Amino acid sequence: MSSLSERMARETIVEIARRLHARGWLAAADGNISLRLSADNILITPSGVHKGFITVDEICRITIDNGVIEGKPSTERLMHLAVYKNAPKAVAVVHAHPPAATAWTIACPEMSELPADCLSEVILAAGRIPFVPYAQPGTQQMGDHLLPFLPDCRLLILARHGALAWGESLSEAYNGIERLEHASVTLAHAKMIGGLTRLPADEVTRLRAMRAKMDGRTL
Ligand SMILES: [Zn+2]
Repeated sequence: MSSLSERMARETIVEIARRLHARGWLAAADGNISLRLSADNILITPSGVHKGFITVDEICRITIDNGVIEGKPSTERLMHLAVYKNAPKAVAVVHAHPPAATAWTIACPEMSELPADCLSEVILAAGRIPFVPYAQPGTQQMGDHLLPFLPDCRLLILARHGALAWGESLSEAYNGIERLEHASVTLAHAKMIGGLTRLPADEVTRLRAMRAKMDGRTL
């Protein structure tokens, strides 16, 4: 461990991993978290380790070109590298398996994004939340399928798999997972109770225009 700031970065990754597990947004060794320390130096969680019990010394280090410097990094790291290469503002990536968000892609494979135009807060805080087409685990597809959505979208739901959020800080990326799963639960409840109703089209247009004037961060 080379510096105090890296130590703090590792501790924050561990804290986020435990929170994701505590919220039920991943099971056992699922999910991965990364943080870019410099242009070519990325911390990432290890492969095959339960994220509820992870320790700072288990965090791995990789390069932007998928070189392994330290540890046995996540097999899903190609998603993280695709984000860092195609979204220059990205400093952190959080990938988890939140159940409600994932369930939308199983129940509604014909949809291309979460029906966020039912909820004003989602439009303002996150913009569109697309469904990324299915990719076979551990393959280059996992990174390639993200490319059409980068750098415009910071919140992505991965078909039949989970969700990914990136941000200019770890807290922004974590907030993104929280935001999309909360919206997914709310919309699922609405669908079960009686069906989805959209905001009026002109109101959606106004809200999207307000979002466009913001700096793109997830709130
Ligand atoms: Zn995964």
